[in-house]
Amino acid sequence: MESYVVSARKYRPATFDSVVGQSHITNTLKNAIKSGQLAQAFLFCGPRGVGKTTCARILAKAINCQNLSDTIEACNECESCKSFNDSTSMNIFELDAASNNSVDDIRRLVEQVRIPPQSGKYKVYIVDEVHMLSSQAFNAFLKTLEEPPSYAKFILATTEKHKIIPTILSRCQIFDFKRIKIEDISHHLEYVAKTENVPYEPEALHVIAQKADGGLRDALSMFDQLINFTGGNLTYANCIDNLNVLDYEYYFKLVDYFRAGDIGGALLLYQQVLDKGFDGQHFITGMSEHIRNLLVCLDPITQTLLDVSDTIRYKYVEQAVNCKLQLLVKLLDISSDFEYRYRDANNKRLFIEVALTKLASLSRADLQVQQTVVQQPAIARPQPQTVLQQPVVQNPPQRPMQPAVAPTQVVSQSETNTTTIQSQPVASAENKPKPNVAVKMPLKTSTISINLPSPNVSDMEKEKKNDRVELTQDLIEDLWKSYIDKADNEALTLAMDRAKLSLSNENLFMVELDNLYSESIIKKSKLEILSYMRERIGVRLLDFEMTVIKQENDENKFSTPSEKLEHLIKKNPQIGVYRNIFSDIYNN
Ligand SMILES: [Zn+2]
Repeated sequence: MESYVVSARKYRPATFDSVVGQSHITNTLKNAIKSGQLAQAFLFCGPRGVGKTTCARILAKAINCQNLSDTIEACNECESCKSFNDSTSMNIFELDAASNNSVDDIRRLVEQVRIPPQSGKYKVYIVDEVHMLSSQAFNAFLKTLEEPPSYAKFILATTEKHKIIPTILSRCQIFDFKRIKIEDISHHLEYVAKTENVPYEPEALHVIAQKADGGLRDALSMFDQLINFTGGNLTYANCIDNLNVLDYEYYFKLVDYFRAGDIGGALLLYQQVLDKGFDGQHFITGMSEHIRNLLVCLDPITQTLLDVSDTIRYKYVEQAVNCKLQLLVKLLDISSDFEYRYRDANNKRLFIEVALTKLASLSRADLQVQQTVVQQPAIARPQPQTVLQQPVVQNPPQRPMQPAVAPTQVVSQSETNTTTIQSQPVASAENKPKPNVAVKMPLKTSTISINLPSPNVSDMEKEKKNDRVELTQDLIEDLWKSYIDKADNEALTLAMDRAKLSLSNENLFMVELDNLYSESIIKKSKLEILSYMRERIGVRLLDFEMTVIKQENDENKFSTPSEKLEHLIKKNPQIGVYRNIFSDIYNN
């Protein structure tokens, strides 16, 4: 039977290029090797499990390789590489300072350094967790670090850079390893899962990546564990159960309760969370985080701060656009205040219930306003993702509450008017900051939007309306094309290239496609496309809707049944044979 190797070891990167999420470091190292200007000592700093030791080993192997490739990767074939791969190389020494931190340990290492390599060019000394060395050990080490023999390279690794004394710091070239992005980790897990033939849900891998907090090694060991626990069935539900992660769904529901002023709903939901075995601290921290994520979603620019998978991102955006900025700020304020004080609370359960009650009653005051705003997108744009345009509906924070109310009153009063659906974007456009003046676009008062009962729109707001950038067919086509030019995803650019655009109204254009596949490809990047276009012209409400028009059916081309039959025979001659047989039978 083949022996089992844990994923963290099996999928440990062996080349610079396969190191996940640290290209800023691997590129620098490669350049240094290429130019022959390699430092004598390196300090690799960064959180655990982000690839410090891995990079150190790759570096050691590469500088000893006799046959380095053009891309500065070890050849894996020369004698030195082979001995590295079999872990029999005499040119690499690893010392874990966490357990070998005495002066004697360092003395032994220093004695080693005196002996030149028997084969290969360099001897590489990797000292892990170097901050754990005792101060005497540090001092014993200093001398060697100061004047090392030319064949010796030192790579010191640490998770706590601030504990390294300045005399050591000043002798090393310092590399700061980054926490690996959740997205990068989940891509890597996806690669591992595919290679290992493990069925998975992308959401599940995302949860693992999130829980790993930037460490690839942790992510991979969790991945292994979960495969064991779940019998190789990596579903989202399985993963959140085993990793003790609270489902996003709870928080989405919770915020809905807050918005609806449903205190009872919020309290019952908290009971469910407790029943699942989560504690209050976990719950309230997650709640603040959720509200923070909603806030971040309100602006396409800050949406990049949202570290979640695409599916969840849509959900966040969807919920965020239905919340008012002021409400979210208040929710976050109260929630983080309770989170902060939770530790000191005597009756923790009651404490959270008070928080929930407060949060849910908070929106009741706003409810009147809220509901009218929320209805709008549903009427105007049936598809859920199109409400993405909404974030900008939010007033800038400094804006007082009062003016925000006016447009919504306008809306409800003109409900009988057929053009009501237009009023929302326009009303909100008035609230947004003026578009960048530098944008040189023809400015014109909108023609559709003026059907609002005028008494409710203040003169000032009318003036502001004149600052709108008018969308034209040419303009959106240009923007669309320029996005195609900059996009590097081939499937996307092909799909976008096939699209026919038509302007629908001042904020909306239609994208006509001839197949569902193109639609799904564009849908995935819709957010990015829109943010790009919005940014370019300063129209923050810009949105598009997609329609898939089926290619013209053959049947429509023919006016008589016999024409159609001729066409079918041309496509499939067998039909002609049958026709002749049947017509013979019929004629006899
Ligand atoms: Zn080699």
